[in-house]
Formats: sequence, structure tokens, C-alpha cells
Amino acid sequence: MSDRISDIRRLFPILDQRVNGRPLVYLDHAATAQKPTPVVEAVRRYYEWDNANVHRSGHTLGQRATDAYETVRAQVARFVGAGSERDIVFTRGVTSAINLVATGYARAKLGAGDDIVVSAMEHHGNLLPWQQAAKATGATLSYIPLQPDGTFTLEDAEETITSRTKLVAVSHVSNVLGVANPVRELAAIARRVGAVVFVDGAQAVSHMPVDVRELDCDFYAFSGHKMYGPTGIGVLYGRREQLERIEPVEYGGQMIDRVGLRDSTWREAPWTFEAGTPNVAGAVGLGAAIDFLERIGRDAVAEHDRKLTRYATERLKEIDGLTIYGPEVDRWGLVTFNLARIHPHDVSSVLDVYGVAIRAGHHCCSPLMDHFGTSATARASFGLYNTEEDVDRLVEALLHTKRVFG
Ligand code: PLP
Repeated sequence: MSDRISDIRRLFPILDQRVNGRPLVYLDHAATAQKPTPVVEAVRRYYEWDNANVHRSGHTLGQRATDAYETVRAQVARFVGAGSERDIVFTRGVTSAINLVATGYARAKLGAGDDIVVSAMEHHGNLLPWQQAAKATGATLSYIPLQPDGTFTLEDAEETITSRTKLVAVSHVSNVLGVANPVRELAAIARRVGAVVFVDGAQAVSHMPVDVRELDCDFYAFSGHKMYGPTGIGVLYGRREQLERIEPVEYGGQMIDRVGLRDSTWREAPWTFEAGTPNVAGAVGLGAAIDFLERIGRDAVAEHDRKLTRYATERLKEIDGLTIYGPEVDRWGLVTFNLARIHPHDVSSVLDVYGVAIRAGHHCCSPLMDHFGTSATARASFGLYNTEEDVDRLVEALLHTKRVFG
């Protein structure tokens, strides 16, 4: 893979620029991935040649646009190992996928006496929708307790998940710890009490092969923009019988079967959940991103990202006064840290002067920050365009930051 990196980097012209007079080192992949030329080209080609609305116009362009959109649905199904393209709903991203299930399923089906289980390491996007659903229905919200390193154990999960549990929602990979959660084992525990399992795959899909049937989850969601695709497109995978239990959340064109003046009926899933004109160009770009990842090879991508994150962890450990958050295990594409007593926003500002882009803040994980007794951290995150030289530039800039702040 390392011999292919320079070819891969050439597909990301955005990386070939200077920021504040230095060559850009982009280490904010976990916030959003950069887009390779084939993705940008696919979207451009779609708008230049095929653009039309889907599922309505019978003319050639309308047919082409519909074919393009539905072809990507089938491609996504294969990409995550779903049994059928009918198990794939296009959404705006992970957040809207979670809101769809929290509103159309949790709010519609749960009530007092029911329990929703999450972990306190969750991104706000995988927390607030469940919190609000619990409030609206009278269901309770329970947390799997965290270990000092921010992870949870299966024993604690087993204690938290009870006969009252109706839904368990966890991230596949934490966007702060970079650690993969034991989703399959968790699903087995949830299954024993008949609870539905929702997996937030935002930080997993760009780094590792994902097979939803092997994970045995009921729902799995991810965003196109974090896997080299466009913004504004995402996916909700749902096991067929679970998708059929969700009430539509948005009503309007395209999701209907028959419409009367007083009452109407809906199409079957997944189209029930795609009211109005969808993001067709986004879906086309997502298809190109999947092609891009598969051409490189998902195992090769996983190996590169894991090896580079391991290298970054080792290099960061060399810096005196730097604290890394999370356990000593393989991380998936990101390392979160604080440098001595320097505020992470100051760290990221100095790094920016050096052309190094990282993220600082609570990372939309306030409960996890509280658990660590800090309000913010710095996070460097990696994609397959990053190299060991990028990590070396990060370390050099951090050492300089330390000198600046004395
Ligand atoms: N969940 C996790 C673990 C994330 O890292 C993110 C984004 O950073 C989200 C959910 C929300 O993703 P989006 O903003 O694409 O909906």
C-alpha cells in the first residue's frame, strides 16, 4: 500500500496546497474526509449529462437518473453486506438516519416501562435523538457505565441491558477513542432480551470492511462525507422486518401509494422514508466513493489506516507532557490527546500556522469529556491519503507549540 500512496494522493488535489506558507497536512479526516477526483468527476458528470428527477419522469434522462440512484442503492447493499437493496434507505447522513429511527420507531413504539440503552461515549448525534425519544414517550434512558479509559465492558453491558430494554444504540468506532466497540457481542446480548440494536458506523466505514449481517445488528448508519463521498448523503441500513416497523417521519411526494382527500397509504420501505426529491447527485458521488475504496481494497485501506494510527500513537507518546485518551489498543484512524496544560484550541491554532489541520473541542461528546474531567481535547485523524511524514510534521509542530507556551 505504501508504494501506492503517492498515486492515491494525486487523486486529492486539495492536499496539494500551502496553508500559512507550509504544505497542508490534513489530519481532520474524522470530521470529514477529502474527496478524490473520481468522486468529484462522477458528481460533475451526473449534473452535466444525466440530471433529472427520479421515479417520475419517463424520458431518457429521468430514466438514467433513476437507474443511477437505484444502482447505488444496490451497490451500498453489497458494500455493507445487506441482504437486499430494499434494506437501504438514503438519508442526509448518520444524524438524520438516527433521527429517523428515534422518531419513527422509538417515539412511535416505546412507552413508560421501556428502556433505551446507550453508552456515555456516544457522539451527540447518537445520544440526543434517543434522549428526546425517551422524554417524549416516558421510556427511560440507561447508560452502560464507562471504565476510566472511556470504554465499556461486556459484563457492564450485560448488567445494563434488561428485560425492559427495547433498543440498544452504540457507535461501531468511537470518534474520540478511535476504539472499535464489541458490536457483535453486544448484539447477541441485546437479542437475548429481544431488544433492537442500532449501530452508528460514522467512524467505521472509511477504515474497515463492514458486514451488517455478520454484526447481526438491526440498523447500521453512516455518512457519505466521512468515506470520501459528498456531504448531504448518508445511509440507514435496516433489517427488513425492522424497517417495516418504522413509521414515516416525512410525508409528501414519492413515498405514497394512494392519496385520498382524507387518508393515504405509503409505498413500502425503503421508499417510504425518502419523501420529496432526494440527493441524487450525492448518491452518485457515494457510489463513486465506494468504487474508489473497493478499487484500493478494503483490507488494504484498513491495514494502512491502522498501521498509520499505531505509528502516530507511538510518535505522540514520545512527547513529554502529552496525554493520550483511551486504552492501549489498536485505534481506527484517530488519536485524541491533550498537550501539557495548553488549551487544545491554542494547540490547534499554532498547528494551523504550521499548515497542520487537526480538530480541537468536545468532539460532540460532552458526556465523555465530563468522564475524563476535561472540557476539550485535540484530535488528529487519518485517511488513506495520510503518510508517516504527515505524522512527523504533526509531532514537530506539537514540539514547537510546547516551546511557544513555555
Ligand atoms: N456519530 C459519530 C461517531 C460521528 O463521529 C459523527 C460525526 O462526526 C456523527 C455521528 C454525525 O455524523 P454526521 O454529522 O455526518 O451526521
